Amino acid sequence: AKTNASLLARRQAAVPHGVASAAPVFASHAENAELWDVEGNRYIDFAGGIAVLNTGHRHPKVVEAAKAQEDHYTHTSFQVVPYEPYVALAEKLNALAPGDFAKKTLLVTTGAEAVENAVKIARAATGRTGVIAFTGAYHGRTLLTLGMTGKISPYKKDVGPFPADVFRAPFPSKRNDITVADALTALENLFLTDAQPDRIAAIILEPVLGEGGYYPVPTELMQALRGICDKHGILLIADEVQAGFGRTGTWFAIEHSGVVPDLITVAKSMAGGYPIAGVIGRADVMDALAPGGLGGTYGGNPVACAAALAAIQAIEEEGLLARSTALGEHFRSRFAEIGARAAPYRMWDIRGLGAMLAVEFVTDFETATPDAALTKSVCAHALKRGLILLSCGMHGNAVRIMVPLTASDEIIEEGLSIFEEALTAAVA
Ligand code: PMP
Repeated sequence: AKTNASLLARRQAAVPHGVASAAPVFASHAENAELWDVEGNRYIDFAGGIAVLNTGHRHPKVVEAAKAQEDHYTHTSFQVVPYEPYVALAEKLNALAPGDFAKKTLLVTTGAEAVENAVKIARAATGRTGVIAFTGAYHGRTLLTLGMTGKISPYKKDVGPFPADVFRAPFPSKRNDITVADALTALENLFLTDAQPDRIAAIILEPVLGEGGYYPVPTELMQALRGICDKHGILLIADEVQAGFGRTGTWFAIEHSGVVPDLITVAKSMAGGYPIAGVIGRADVMDALAPGGLGGTYGGNPVACAAALAAIQAIEEEGLLARSTALGEHFRSRFAEIGARAAPYRMWDIRGLGAMLAVEFVTDFETATPDAALTKSVCAHALKRGLILLSCGMHGNAVRIMVPLTASDEIIEEGLSIFEEALTAAVA
């Protein structure tokens, strides 16, 4: 029988070190919020394949839809012979996205590709080149998206230079002691020092900063950004790759602010485990490129389109938006209890929106020094006890929750009690 150790040795010889894995175990099979490794060990999955599985592993409706599509055709390339599932998914996304105007949707394969295309579209539509992104942002690992990603290690380390005309604005956070007013002043200064406003095509941000630490964008900031964009003719892009499709209790996290963006990038939980992503936006903006200017061989793969339509239907039929809100409240109160009991003065912050939650660990409350070592140790102790946890944050000192919204209350409680044991062991 194959062991985790033997597979790990083969992996190390065959796969580059740059592709890191959080867990040194190999998947055998998975169902909803549970996963088993090749040695038969069971895990509760609070990582959801990095926020891809809001509808859980192998949601029956998603699997059934993908299988049914496979019986017809698996690939034609939409640019050669188009097919209905692409159009149906575009129609559905246009209807779900905020904004009382005509919309169109481009489908691609990955989140980074969606962000790349959103910028291309914004440039073509405005005739401008500049892009403003925020500190701690994560928009992908391609060169343009890395240029917008606001964290050096490990993403940007040693692989520059990055595309020109990408500017950085500070993201407000308690950690950096930056208020919304400070962030807005810095943006106004950026317009005076480096970024000519009428040369800026787009401001892009994650409505809840994801890899950067699960910080919701304050509503006042989102509203102010909308005003600034309108004033200067800049397009507002919401990167909903991680926060979308129910993670925060609404279809799109930006809905919490009431602000309507011009373009939205989506991926991850849109298709419950199949690789597909998209750009949804104002029809006039989306039509800026000439035929042939957008696309890619695999963009909007039909099996992934069928899976996405089924995942979206599951979110609707199973009330997963309300479930997300309720789960978020539950996690918040349980984290507060667990932190006080298992690790007094080490859990410095509990934050997020809906079920997109993180807890941040520090060495002590007095100095609030980020404690990445403790965070790593919590994740390692959790894995040993059968819980998959992922960290996030500029300092790697937060644990984030991306558990399937379809997880039962029992599984959630089991996961939380393992979390408490892991935290207790890690501080010991
Ligand atoms: N944008 C955001 C907000 C993300 O969280 C991610 C992935 N973590 C991406 C873009 C890139 O997506 P992908 O990994 O599919 O390229």
